[in-house]
Amino acid sequence: MEANKPVLLTVDDDPGVSRAVARDLRRRYGQDYRIVRAESGPQALEALREIKLRGDTVAVLLADYRMPEMSGLEFLEQAMDLFPLARRALLTAYADTDAAIQAINVVDLDHYLLKPWDPPDEKLYPVLDSLIELWHDAGDKPVTETQVVGHRWSARSFEVRDFLARNSVPYRWFTVEQPDGARLLEAAGLDATSIPLVVTPAGDCLVDPSVEDLAARVGLSTTPGTDFYDTVIVGGGPAGLGAAVYAASEGLRTVLLERRATGGQAGQSSRIENYLGFPDGVSGGQLTDRARRQARKFGAEILTARGVAALEARGSSRVVRFADGGEVAAHTVVLATGVDYHRLEVPGADRLTGLGVFYGLSATEASSCAEREVYVVGGGNSAGQAAVFLARHARRVTLLVRADGLERSMSYYLIRQIRETPNIEVRVGTQVVGAAGGEHLERLSLCDIAAGTVEEVPASFLFVFIGAAPCTDWLDGLIARDPDGFLLTGADLLVGGKRPTAWPLDRDPYHLEGSVPGIFAAGDVRANSVKRVASAVGEGAMAIQLVHRYLEAQ
Ligand SMILES: Cc1cc2nc3c(=O)[nH]c(=O)nc-3n(C[C@H](O)[C@H](O)[C@H](O)COP(=O)(O)OP(=O)(O)OC[C@H]3O[C@@H](n4cnc5c(N)ncnc54)[C@H](O)[C@@H]3O)c2cc1C
Repeated sequence: MEANKPVLLTVDDDPGVSRAVARDLRRRYGQDYRIVRAESGPQALEALREIKLRGDTVAVLLADYRMPEMSGLEFLEQAMDLFPLARRALLTAYADTDAAIQAINVVDLDHYLLKPWDPPDEKLYPVLDSLIELWHDAGDKPVTETQVVGHRWSARSFEVRDFLARNSVPYRWFTVEQPDGARLLEAAGLDATSIPLVVTPAGDCLVDPSVEDLAARVGLSTTPGTDFYDTVIVGGGPAGLGAAVYAASEGLRTVLLERRATGGQAGQSSRIENYLGFPDGVSGGQLTDRARRQARKFGAEILTARGVAALEARGSSRVVRFADGGEVAAHTVVLATGVDYHRLEVPGADRLTGLGVFYGLSATEASSCAEREVYVVGGGNSAGQAAVFLARHARRVTLLVRADGLERSMSYYLIRQIRETPNIEVRVGTQVVGAAGGEHLERLSLCDIAAGTVEEVPASFLFVFIGAAPCTDWLDGLIARDPDGFLLTGADLLVGGKRPTAWPLDRDPYHLEGSVPGIFAAGDVRANSVKRVASAVGEGAMAIQLVHRYLEAQ
């Protein structure tokens, strides 16, 4: 297939002429250009729409002047909407030269060629050479990435972009108002209500796709390669990725199942400063990308957009069921599902989620904060990091903290950075009590807790970091959890030195083993874990050592 070669398109209603032009073009330009031939204006426009959707470019349009269904001029006029940078030439008979000259103004014609064009070396190629040179100077390049068209303030458009970014899928973003966005919609035969539109590198159009559909169509793995593994890892944050790297590198048949995008909370961190081996810090995105490549290099399968909804012990097999149907089995399971942010339960916040209100830090939106009023809620390290990062873009960042200071909840290095950043303001003793806006967040209501007064402030963005709960609801009844839902493992399962009543083995649960043998927990989801990237990665690695020990005893 000749993908990404620029196109030279010729259209003529006389099949003989059309073939002859195409043949002459191919002879001289076939090496570097894809020659596309059509026998009517509508057929040529259809071909151009497909070329647009595939992200390819058109260098030259060569149209016959007299065509019954649609004249060459009408065709060129419509083709300009799709490929405004393509150079345009008309093929005319001698009698039509006056009309062709007039057309120079209508469609900004570059040239007209008289039929017949023999010999091509004298009459066709010099013209084409100059048109191609002009086109090259304009710098039109093929788009090999996925393309997304959406509204600036649309929660679904944001979700699609965020999903692609977090999975390291390169894409180009166009709003419906931008000419390229409008052209893509037109090429797909859609209007601005059909958004977000995703055009895959193969030219497929997905309108408002689910993450599952999106993942599968942009080339992410979503289906297990087999139905039985040594270990299934649920969750693709640092703990899950750590487990995947160690398991696969030690020869275990490994699959990692992630419901959204790999990286987990860490994937959203703008700068992790305290992870061993990165003295200048590392962004969560980079760390995730490296870990994912490392796990794959050793042979781990990583499935994205596959949430797990149930877990079952079937004899010696441990079986996990996907939320969207299907299951996969293994000797062992490592649960690394981490935590989810608490929602801000105030009027307006739910409706404006994705429209200015965000949970965690979204690198996709950070650049939109330029010159805006940005608020960050929370007093922990993640809120502090986000405030420092956002201050590079925003006019002003206000950190809203319910407590009367940061000292008890935030690391000293971050407090110092915040103090040294002139466009960060810290408001302690303050709580958000409302959010309002039309298509996007416009105002916040802030309560001064001590005074009991409420003030309304203009705000474009609100990033929320107010604690998190473990992602374990789906494990209720199957495996022991503490009162807050975190998974109990190892010695935490022993009550007064006694094993849980349903525990079937004559040994104690291993350190990271849950209340069902062969099911392990690692990272933030585990009760009493240290909520840090390094400890999550370490626990992932340690869980695999215990998986080996478990398998050896089987
Ligand atoms: C903004 C921010 C900045 C931070 N900065 C730092 C820092 O600088 N240094 C530091 O040490 N720590 C930092 N942390 C904390 C650190 O990111 C976490 O401790 C770490 O990510 C925990 O890793 P984890 O793998 O246990 O869980 P998570 O990172 O929470 O990952 C869990 C993964 O499991 C997936 N999942 C959940 N349920 C399911 C299911 N049913 N099926 C499939 N998949 C599922 C989730 O989608 C998620 O991807 C930060 C956290 C945040 C939010």
